[in-house]
Amino acid sequence: MNFSYSDTQIEITEAVRALATSFPADYWRRCDAEGIYPEAFVQAMTKAGWLAALIPEQYGGSGLPLLDACLILQEINRQGGNGAACHAQMYTMGSVLNHGSEQQKQSLLPRIASGELRLQAFGVTEPDAGSNTLKIKTFARRINGGYVINGQKIWTSRFKQSDMYLLLARTTPYEEVKRKTDGLSLFLVDIARAGKSLQSRPIDTMLNHHTNEVFINDLEISDEWRIGEEGKGFTYLLTSLNAERLLVASECVGDGHWFIERARRYATDRVVFDKPIGANQGVAFPIARAHMSVSAAELMRNQAASLYDAGKPCGGEANMAKYLCSEASWEAAEAAMTTFGGYGVATEYDIERKWKENRLMRTAPISNNLVLAYVAQHLLEMPRSY
Ligand SMILES: Cc1cc2nc3c(=O)[nH]c(=O)nc-3n(C[C@H](O)[C@H](O)[C@H](O)COP(=O)(O)OP(=O)(O)OC[C@H]3O[C@@H](n4cnc5c(N)ncnc54)[C@H](O)[C@@H]3O)c2cc1C
Repeated sequence: MNFSYSDTQIEITEAVRALATSFPADYWRRCDAEGIYPEAFVQAMTKAGWLAALIPEQYGGSGLPLLDACLILQEINRQGGNGAACHAQMYTMGSVLNHGSEQQKQSLLPRIASGELRLQAFGVTEPDAGSNTLKIKTFARRINGGYVINGQKIWTSRFKQSDMYLLLARTTPYEEVKRKTDGLSLFLVDIARAGKSLQSRPIDTMLNHHTNEVFINDLEISDEWRIGEEGKGFTYLLTSLNAERLLVASECVGDGHWFIERARRYATDRVVFDKPIGANQGVAFPIARAHMSVSAAELMRNQAASLYDAGKPCGGEANMAKYLCSEASWEAAEAAMTTFGGYGVATEYDIERKWKENRLMRTAPISNNLVLAYVAQHLLEMPRSY
């Protein structure tokens, strides 16, 4: 058993670090203050090919293992950036790759790999269904050769920075399906072509995250843009979720290391009562505890990603990694915020920006309570809670 990263993984990390450090803290600070999408950063990530890491070489990507892709996002966040600005360009295509037709793959994947086409918006969550995805109401009614879709989504991130939208809709009413997970279908929507039948409204949030309400009115979609079989969309979505969980977990690992390093340095340099504040165990211990939590969570992420790359089941490990990494990085965020005292909330120190960004990871893409429910039910075989 070897717990070290390979030489290739270390090289990837170093190359990503060079890109990440060319977007210093004041770049991210400015984006945050002005609510700007970090377009220059996303373009640089695209040009360097990092966002095409998981697309097989035959479709123009680099076909890297998931663990390598995890290290890309980890390093971005470790250097103070925000991989969440474009992480979905890496994994949303998974539904096309794993379940799309050869024609969909040929026409989309090379363009996603080159960045000519952005598929980084996905609409699952709805205002009335929340975490209960099976209760979504957006409905795709069958017509000759396709569907007419009506409904509403909420929290669709990067809708305005995407060319295509991956949309989950009901194709059979909930009351009429045999298995609760049946009757949902996945569609690929060309946003420009949809015109007024797809309207969005940005949601103002505490962090620089470009997320929207999306209103769908009589949107016509032909059969060729449904992914896979009708009614199997939820199952398809689940198979892509492990990669998403692990990429997000990796951003948390990066954040965790960033917070610990910042807190460590500040606690060592800042002198109050004639000694460095880090000499007080009340200051040092939370940082040390967070360091242990992040290091342990990183190992669970590695275990889950290694199983994924070996083609083995990893649902339990991927969920546990998402939970542990987001909780560990939040522990580190809190330790840093406390260590910096009043300066923690001053924007020039970046703690408050990263603290806001990191807090989201406990809620999205899946709330940590729902991970606990999954672990209790599926891994520990305890009674269902919902
Ligand atoms: C900034 C941001 C970006 C997002 N981007 C996207 C996106 O691009 N696409 C997309 O589809 N969605 C997106 N989401 C949605 C996100 O996945 C959901 O917010 C999340 O899954 C929780 O759903 P909810 O907000 O409706 O909370 P709810 O389901 O209403 O839950 C509220 C609280 O109750 C708890 N809870 C609910 N049921 C249970 C239960 N049975 N047991 C224990 N606790 C429970 C939850 O854990 C949570 O703490 C985004 C959300 C945010 C905030």
